Formats: sequence, structure tokens, C-alpha cells
Amino acid sequence: MCPSKGSVALEPRCKLEGKAPLSMLYLLFEANLTVTSGRGERDNTVPRILVTNDDGVHAPGLLALKQALARLGEVVVFAPDRNWSAAGHTKTMHKPLRVEETVLEDGSPALTTNGAPSDCVALAVLGLVDSPIDLVVAGINTGANLGYDITYSGTVAGAMEGVINGIPAIAVSQEVVVGENADFSIAADVARRVAELVLQYGLPQDTFLNVNCPARPARIPPEVVVTRLGRRVYRDVLIRREDPRGKPYYWFGGDPPTGIVEPGTDIGALARGQVSVTPITMDMTHYRFLADLRTWPLNPRVDEEG
Ligand code: MN
Repeated sequence: MCPSKGSVALEPRCKLEGKAPLSMLYLLFEANLTVTSGRGERDNTVPRILVTNDDGVHAPGLLALKQALARLGEVVVFAPDRNWSAAGHTKTMHKPLRVEETVLEDGSPALTTNGAPSDCVALAVLGLVDSPIDLVVAGINTGANLGYDITYSGTVAGAMEGVINGIPAIAVSQEVVVGENADFSIAADVARRVAELVLQYGLPQDTFLNVNCPARPARIPPEVVVTRLGRRVYRDVLIRREDPRGKPYYWFGGDPPTGIVEPGTDIGALARGQVSVTPITMDMTHYRFLADLRTWPLNPRVDEEG
């Protein structure tokens, strides 16, 4: 089945026309949502950039990012239909994933799903977006992703999913002062510059860049510095309430996280009004601890056994 083109200016393709829908993926393929360049045959000199986020497909940070990157190549937007902030690195395995066409505020087409940011990247790589995808960029997140935040962040998870699939990736986040509206214009310029360099130089295997822009840049354009991860300090408090049936429920409350302001770290950079670029590797092995750990008596001695 090859349904007719929707109102969105996508060019549908029937990749698996005639095949029985044996699995969810087949179903998705049959939904005919593969995005192409819209210019017919692919121009191999133009990079294809997949843009996702965790704030939802209609978040203003995503639009700013998409518009900035459009100057570098063909941008395909594939983002969740709702807010997945702090969803971490998710692989949806226990519910069907739906994929729909939508239109961004500037009239450009996008794909959206009920899955997580990492699902968007996986769906794209597994066939819903034409390959090759040359770069994955996630963001621009409303709120910084610093230090341990990267383990919670859906934005960062989108970049991780790109890297796992062998595609260079960048996560971009904008620090926001509570009570103020986020301005994504500087972060969008930074994202374009970083993306251009990644397309030019590539990245080491298993590596992505985590980019954070300060809410109050010390100068315009802001200074960009290369950093390591700092240490976040969370100020969560557990709030206990009772539901109408008298059963307790819990809610994480408290103030936004702070961090230890150290030179050379992402947290230190933002505190100085600088843009932070941190190279992150998926290999979380603690290499310096390996030798020490090997001296531990992890295997019981023969006379201890039994
Ligand atoms: Mn978010």
C-alpha cells in the first residue's frame, strides 16, 4: 500500500512496497514516512543532518537549531511529540511507536513520534530517514546539561544514540535563568559553527560533543572553551503528599541544581559566561582504577571456597 501524500511537503517513498507488515518496523515503513531531500535525487555534496530534541517537536529551541543548521545542508527534523526532559537514554520496547508528519512554526516539515529522543534517532537510522545521515544534532535544550546531568538528559541521549550508530553527534543546551525566557540565537550560531567543524574534521569513534551556552555571556560573541565535565550539586527534596484515597505519593521538589565552579569544567565555563564544549566518550571505563581493582581478591582463594 502506498498512501497518497499528506498535506505536508514530504516526499513519501514506498521502501517495502508489497511486503507483508510482519513487524512494527514493517508497519512503520508501510506508513510511508521516509523523508527525502525534497529535491529528488540526493546531492552527495550536501550533508544530511538529523535534528532531534527532548523538549518536544514544537519547542522553540529546536526551531532555532533547525534554521541555523539549514545553512550547512539538508536538515531532517525528527523529534518527540511531547516533553521527554530527564528521560535519559531510552529504548522503547514495550509499546508501539507511532510516527506522524507535522509542520514546524516556519512551515517546514518534520517527523514526530510518541517515543523518546533516542527512539527518534534509532527510527531514523533504521530506515525512516534516508541514509546516510552525516550528523545528529540534539537541542537546543531549554536548560543547561552539565556534569552528571548528561546521564539524565534526553537531549544528550539523542546524541548518544547517534554515536552508537556510528554517526558523529552534538548535544546543544541553553542555560536559562528561572523566570526569564530563553534566547536561543547565540546557541544557534554556536551550534552551526560546531556542526560545521564536526562535518569538516569528524570526531573520534564513540565520541560526541556536549555544548552548553551561558544565560549571560560575558561578551558577544561569547568565548568558546573546551572543558571537562564538572560536578553538579543537586538540591532535590522529597515531597510526600497523599492522594484522595489517602495513599502517599512522592514528588521530587527543591531548587534547581548548582555545581562546583572549577576552572576547566563545563560548570566553570558557564559561570564565567563562556560557551562550554565537552568531548564525551561512550566508554565509561575508569582506566586509572583498572590496575588497583585488579589487586582486589575478587576470586576467593581455594581454601575459602565452599
Ligand atoms: Mn529538555
